[in-house]
Amino acid sequence: MLRNDELDRWDRECFFHPSTHLAQHARGDSPNRILRTASGSHIEDRDGKRLLDAFAGLYCVNVGYGRQEIAEAIAEQARELAYYHAYVGHGTEVSIKLARMVIDRAPAGMSKVYFGLGGSDANETNIKLVWYYNNVLGRPEKKKIISRWRGYHGSGLVTGSLTGLGLFHQKFDLPFERIIHTDAPYWYRRPDPAMDEAAYVAHLAGELEALIEREGADTIAAFIGEPVLGTGGLVPPPAGYWEAIQAVLERHDILLIADEVVTGFGRLGTMFGSDHYGIRPDLITIAKGLTSAYAPLSGSIVGEKMWKVLEQGTDEFGVIGHGWTYSAHPIGAAAGVANLELIDKLDLISNVREIGPYLTRGLSEALAEHPHVGEVRGVGLLSAVELVEDRETRAGFDPSRKIGPAVAGRMASLGVVARAMPQGDIIGYAPPFCLTREEADTVISVTAEAIRAEL
Ligand code: PLP
Repeated sequence: MLRNDELDRWDRECFFHPSTHLAQHARGDSPNRILRTASGSHIEDRDGKRLLDAFAGLYCVNVGYGRQEIAEAIAEQARELAYYHAYVGHGTEVSIKLARMVIDRAPAGMSKVYFGLGGSDANETNIKLVWYYNNVLGRPEKKKIISRWRGYHGSGLVTGSLTGLGLFHQKFDLPFERIIHTDAPYWYRRPDPAMDEAAYVAHLAGELEALIEREGADTIAAFIGEPVLGTGGLVPPPAGYWEAIQAVLERHDILLIADEVVTGFGRLGTMFGSDHYGIRPDLITIAKGLTSAYAPLSGSIVGEKMWKVLEQGTDEFGVIGHGWTYSAHPIGAAAGVANLELIDKLDLISNVREIGPYLTRGLSEALAEHPHVGEVRGVGLLSAVELVEDRETRAGFDPSRKIGPAVAGRMASLGVVARAMPQGDIIGYAPPFCLTREEADTVISVTAEAIRAEL
């Protein structure tokens, strides 16, 4: 085992961390956490300190840590057949089995799954497929993609452009030209507090329609959105939002990509977020919950309508030139099969339906009167507490005060990990599906204590 001083030094000397303040980290003055082990909903750091992980890593360890069934499946697959590729129709038993399991669970009308490694590359695949589709259909001008401000779809070149958070564009010369943004539904921050849900939905659908008319529907290929806004603030949409958006898209023959990297496989209490909101997507992005992050694996689920055109394209133009070495990697697939079996066997999605509302209600009851708690919201096992300077005006704190990170830091010192979301002072919760009531109670009381201490 490495000594602590070695770990700290090597980490600073050699390791380029994602989404990190590099200079602070190199100086050793940013908070870091180095982990050694984990089990259930708890992680344990190198000093043996146990923390309740109320964000399941990066909302991905959905079945909880330390699941021996998944570890065994991975080890067995590595011993038996660690790798074979999926190019030119090749495959492995385990990846074919996982494809069957994914399609059986997917919403109606979905046809095939293309496996990748992470959510970002799956969205890159989706955008390429959308462009290919319109080229095969002889519509080379129909290429723009509409994404939403505050949406998160990854940090590649195209996916970083789709992402609607300034942090992921700044100094990277993004977004690309073909990617345009519209507003995401954000009930708490609706333009006029007097609006009811129906009026707000009509406003958002009207904005989308106006954007499409301004750009020209014949230039717009697809719309991408998370069923529930995730990294942009954990914001459930108002009633009727998806129905209204879909009506606009259908009118203009624009494809719909549901990015279910967070919501797929149970996070909202249904198998997919699309099931929860009645979304009828043409493509679905999956990643995190597919393997509960026991191994990297993602997927693009392609609907029947697109699939027919993709087949037609290869008849006309030959092999589709898109593939990763690690597409459908058997070790990821083994983790996926074991993970989906475990979700069924333990009926974990029922627990999401029970414990999710319990957590959101508990946070709401504990915090509703606090002068700096603007809103407590949630759906399934996704909750958020939005902190504001002024409840009346809903004005946020000056970002330089870093209130969100301070509250999350205080919570960690009290034994609970929640996530300070990257934009706005929002504390996010997305615990493993096996969270118990006692653990939820701890999350609630620690949040209340941390907010009282900081504000
Ligand atoms: N899409 C959504 C909705 C996500 O939340 C994320 C990551 O958090 C991604 C895509 C990107 O996934 P990855 O980080 O695996 O590339």
